[in-house]
Amino acid sequence: MSESDNSIDVTEIGELTPPDRTLMGPGPSDVHSRVLRAMSTPLVGHLDPSFVEIMNEVQELLRYTFRTDNQWTLPVSGTGSAAMEAAIGNVVEPGDTMLVPTNGYFGGRMASMARRAGGEVAEVSAPWGEPLDPNDVADALAEHDPDVFGFVHAETSTGVLQPDVPELTAAAHDHDALVIADTVTSLGGVELRVDEWGIDVAYSGPQKCLSCPPGASPLTLSDTAMEKVLGREDEPRSWYLDLSLLEGYWGDERAYHHTAPVTNVYALREALRLVAEEGIEQRWERHERLAGALKAGVEGMGLEMNAPEEYWLPSLNAVRVPEDVDDGAVCAELLERYDLEVASGLGDLDGEIFRIGCMGYSARPQNVIYTVTALGDVLESMGADVDPGAGVTAARNTLE
Ligand SMILES: *Cc1c(COP(=O)(O)O)cnc(C)c1O
Repeated sequence: MSESDNSIDVTEIGELTPPDRTLMGPGPSDVHSRVLRAMSTPLVGHLDPSFVEIMNEVQELLRYTFRTDNQWTLPVSGTGSAAMEAAIGNVVEPGDTMLVPTNGYFGGRMASMARRAGGEVAEVSAPWGEPLDPNDVADALAEHDPDVFGFVHAETSTGVLQPDVPELTAAAHDHDALVIADTVTSLGGVELRVDEWGIDVAYSGPQKCLSCPPGASPLTLSDTAMEKVLGREDEPRSWYLDLSLLEGYWGDERAYHHTAPVTNVYALREALRLVAEEGIEQRWERHERLAGALKAGVEGMGLEMNAPEEYWLPSLNAVRVPEDVDDGAVCAELLERYDLEVASGLGDLDGEIFRIGCMGYSARPQNVIYTVTALGDVLESMGADVDPGAGVTAARNTLE
């Protein structure tokens, strides 16, 4: 080996200077400076008495945010998919049937995880861009008699909010199925009441409506769900996400299982403190108001929302791509010209929608006006039939 193979010119790599983006996509969202500051505070050990206190506080704040009294409420190490796999991989036992939705990208991920857990998958169908119909869910429950029913409360791939949640959970419980809710894009952004709505298990992610960097992801389980998990015959296939082992660390014992992502737990604590300071209901109201202004702005310039009002998802706005416009080019231009991140569509809605997030700290008047202004400008420059000025006026009027 020559000497040069083993050397590196660090001047070519340079200091880290990421661009200063405005994050209005499907996540991550903009992060409050208090959260960033919390992340630059000193590390303590994951069993340090001071950290044990921080863990208790995070759990208490998570219960507040989920609207639950569940003892089994914790941040899972990893992104939202880790909390998702902890939920599905522990609750679904080999041979169980899990009923999953087909109306978006994340129902498909639920199905993959259920199969890997050794489960059988049954589907309840709805088109991408529409919510599940409670009658279809009732029919599917009767036909497949599943052990577990999963649904996506806020489908980030389609901008659809699932209404009628208490009706869905009641139907599932009539068939003795446990309910797992994907609340990744709803927790801290749109109304979610885990206990009152009869949700057995809910998982989420920190980088959507909680405006926290990814790394420690909320999960909550009812006593009934945990009874099933602790009574399993076979161990879950993942050691890392085995909730019966994680209980040793996040339960009363506080014994080592794996090293907690200390800095991410700090960040989550501060992000959740911001939620509690604002008040959870006020926060839901703010998302609706700010996303309402965004919606008024895009409609005011002449664009259409993909979802009708009844299941519009404030935290993720699906906007129809106007005719003869290349959605990918628009997103690239917004990034290039405005340092603004929004996303294009996925799956069945590929090329048909823009996905504009309005989450957490990104749900602010200046972000909304900026996004409407930038989108109008870029679309107009690409020859779309839009009236950018009318859009900005409409957004501003809604905010007044
Ligand atoms: C983002 C997201 C996930 C996955 O979270 P990651 O943090 O990307 O792992 C799951 N479900 C929904 C609805 C999401 O929006």
